[in-house]
Amino acid sequence: MRVLLVEDERKTASFIKKALQAENFAIDCSSDGLEGLQLATNKAFDAIILDIMLPGLDGLGILRQLRERKITTPVLLLSARGHVNERIEGLNAGADDYLPKPFVLAELVARVRALGRRSNESKAILLRVGNLTLDTVTHQSKRGDTSLELTAREYRLLEFLMRSTGRICGRMAILEKVWDYHFDPGTNLVDVYIMRIREKIDSNHEPKLLHTIRGIGYVLKEP
Ligand code: CA
Repeated sequence: MRVLLVEDERKTASFIKKALQAENFAIDCSSDGLEGLQLATNKAFDAIILDIMLPGLDGLGILRQLRERKITTPVLLLSARGHVNERIEGLNAGADDYLPKPFVLAELVARVRALGRRSNESKAILLRVGNLTLDTVTHQSKRGDTSLELTAREYRLLEFLMRSTGRICGRMAILEKVWDYHFDPGTNLVDVYIMRIREKIDSNHEPKLLHTIRGIGYVLKEP
């Protein structure tokens, strides 16, 4: 995983760099906003860490320029101030995460890793769990050699479950991701769709991939 760090405080930069290198990240550093923007534009990174107060161009300025240029690399903003307004401004400008200084290094490492994972997941075109595959470009799905016919909604549900492989998806999370509902409609909508998906991916196949975690939600698991 390759990370760009733009931070002008030498000490902070050096300890972040060491912590990430210890976790086997490849890391490029810059202490200047304009140089940082140039690096972020010309080279591919899995995640970018931007300090807000920088010489040349500040972190928010870099972020806005990147998003304007359609560079969607996940960005973690660092700020000495930690004001709520700054956080909102950062998220509005397209930041993916925000960490106020002083921070605990282990937390920074965990957040950067999560961002990198997200960026790799969004790049994945063919999702695979066991012999179940889903092509996110053509929307075609197969279990082994059998093609599965999915409605648009079933596709969204299966894509969400496959991108969350091994993690339990709660009913609320499914309602939000698949139906854009931010409330519980109090129906068995999710259960009905899970039943349809299960019928398509699991009913004629072994081993079963989709599991119910009673009272919590559902999980798609590698066999
Ligand atoms: Ca700074």
